Amino acid sequence: MTLIDGKATAATIKAEIKAEVERIVAAGGKRPHLAAVLVGHDGGSETYVRNKVLACEACGFRSSLIRYEDTITEAELLDCVKQLNEDADVDGFIVQLPLPKHISEQKVIEAIDYRKDVDGFHPINVGRMAIGLPCYISATPKGILELLRRYDIETSGKKCVVLGRSNIVGKPMAQLMMQKQYGDATVTVCHSRSRNLREECLAADIIIAAIGRPEFLTADMVKPGAVVIDVGTTRVPDATRPKGFRLCGDVDFANVASLCSHITPVPGGVGPMTICMLMLNTLAAGKREYYQ
Ligand code: NAP
Repeated sequence: MTLIDGKATAATIKAEIKAEVERIVAAGGKRPHLAAVLVGHDGGSETYVRNKVLACEACGFRSSLIRYEDTITEAELLDCVKQLNEDADVDGFIVQLPLPKHISEQKVIEAIDYRKDVDGFHPINVGRMAIGLPCYISATPKGILELLRRYDIETSGKKCVVLGRSNIVGKPMAQLMMQKQYGDATVTVCHSRSRNLREECLAADIIIAAIGRPEFLTADMVKPGAVVIDVGTTRVPDATRPKGFRLCGDVDFANVASLCSHITPVPGGVGPMTICMLMLNTLAAGKREYYQ
């Protein structure tokens, strides 16, 4: 069994990005600039944005953090998006989700210039991804593709089961695993209404679990030699931990790991790759790799 080390892979990729940025700057090019918009004081969002700013520093990017109280109106936030769209120095930007209830997340996402949408949530990027055109691919599925590639895991022609059909993980993951230039696999998507989920998983060469149900995937659902990618990160109360909780994946790791050819741990698997892929998208934005 090979443990897929997302933390080490992410560190390697960040070092690669930094080296490329320094080459670009040394050749007279522009340092990539990522802006992040944070509304309110949600603990999780504060942590994510702080980690994104730190990742920018590690990659040699310029970063800007724009903060608003959660009393900001939708019109004011849309105006901020417009200004960032027009700011020639900003190569890419994100609006950290979730937003307060009185603001339409979809409206905000659609207001972002798709050429600066490094989160890959704008319908133009989602649509281009679905038909295999160059675009920003959202960070979590992109990170999983990168892990599969860097661990030389053969996906072409394999049977892949994706558990979950959310817009940010399950759906794009299934699309990418299906496409010839990415996974090239035969893909089945399971969700809360799937009836034969255990049998589907048992037949799979690759299982990507993204449902947010702690230890849902048990040993009796996994074929020996399968590759298991665990996207789940649920906070489970744990009095022995300093923060009072631990992060739990969707896979019963203790009993599944020995069956697998490869498996990602939680934490330290998919999670660290996510911010790292935002950095790769920002580098691409700085280089105008997908759009002029
Ligand atoms: P989500 O929007 O809540 O979607 C969950 C999906 O799982 C839905 O499609 C749901 O089916 C399905 N599901 C729920 N219970 C199920 C069950 N018992 N059997 C089969 N399918 C079931 O979640 P998400 O945003 O995709 O996130 C999934 C997990 O990944 C969460 O733990 C989240 O924290 C984690 N995550 C991690 C990262 C990372 O970077 N590591 C990034 C994003 C998300 P229905 O559609 O039928 O409701």
